[in-house]
Amino acid sequence: QTLAAHIVQHTKQGHRPPHLCTVLVGDDPASALYVRNKQKQAVAVGMRTKHYPLDQHTSEKQLLQCIDQLNANDAVDAILVQLPLPRHINTHKVLQHVYPHKDVDGFHPTNIGLLCTGIPRFIPCTPRACMALLQHANIDLVGLHAVVLGRSLIVGKPMAQLLLAQHATVTLCHSRTLDLVHITRQADVLICAMGKANYITAQHVKPQATIIDVGINRQDDGSLAGDVNTQSVSPFVHAITPVPGGVGPMTIAMLLDNTYRSYCARMGFCYNEQQQEFTHA
Ligand code: NDP
Repeated sequence: QTLAAHIVQHTKQGHRPPHLCTVLVGDDPASALYVRNKQKQAVAVGMRTKHYPLDQHTSEKQLLQCIDQLNANDAVDAILVQLPLPRHINTHKVLQHVYPHKDVDGFHPTNIGLLCTGIPRFIPCTPRACMALLQHANIDLVGLHAVVLGRSLIVGKPMAQLLLAQHATVTLCHSRTLDLVHITRQADVLICAMGKANYITAQHVKPQATIIDVGINRQDDGSLAGDVNTQSVSPFVHAITPVPGGVGPMTIAMLLDNTYRSYCARMGFCYNEQQQEFTHA
């Protein structure tokens, strides 16, 4: 059953729909577009959404107060603070302020800790999307060498944990990594999350590698490019995700799923292993 069908079922039985709140500080057009897309998709599956657009000059204290209100509101299941935040706001402080049980982005230290411990609550949406795409492509990760390019909290670090949990041998690279080509050429699975348009070319890839291109880079002509030069690598790889249209939409799907899980946990619904769905206790 699809997420939308589950939500219809719950609401038909008299329950309220899941409720996702988004908070955006400032007017960065890319961030505003990401938030709009998330809201649109949430509404499309029958969720309730509310957006809190805050002025660029909003103080850290005001933002924390906004989060306090959402934390305390029992009718809110999920809180998403769109990143990046303006420089005058301490991002770590803000992410730590979101109630961990409503932190559907999975960035709160408690949720990161649970992920590293192997008992995840909310898995960060983009790495979770990458894992879903690998699963969809029937890639058995056991014993494979997975190389992750990028060590951010949002993508690289949780990505490495998820690959490790599936028994891949993981190498995490960053801007100070020496001889990147030597490492990437050993990758059976290459996850590219550097934010560098078309950086990865044929010289970087092992023949028949599977590539997940997380990068979304706006080019001078307004078009979007991934971190991978698809034309250059395509003849040699087993599979590669497109940009746009690959990890991006799947990331939103994972956000909606995390929101739904939060809702079910808060409503006291039980997960039925056999039917693989939440039922009313
Ligand atoms: P960050 O800028 O936070 O991190 C980039 C990482 O890449 C850093 O760890 C950096 O290293 C590393 N890096 C930069 N240059 C190199 C290099 N030459 N060799 C190896 N590593 C390098 O970005 P994010 O993780 O937030 O995002 C990465 C990309 O993914 C962006 O294009 C972003 O737009 C996209 N993205 C896409 C999403 C989606 O839904 N599809 C969601 C989130 C992000 P160091 O730490 O040393 O600086």
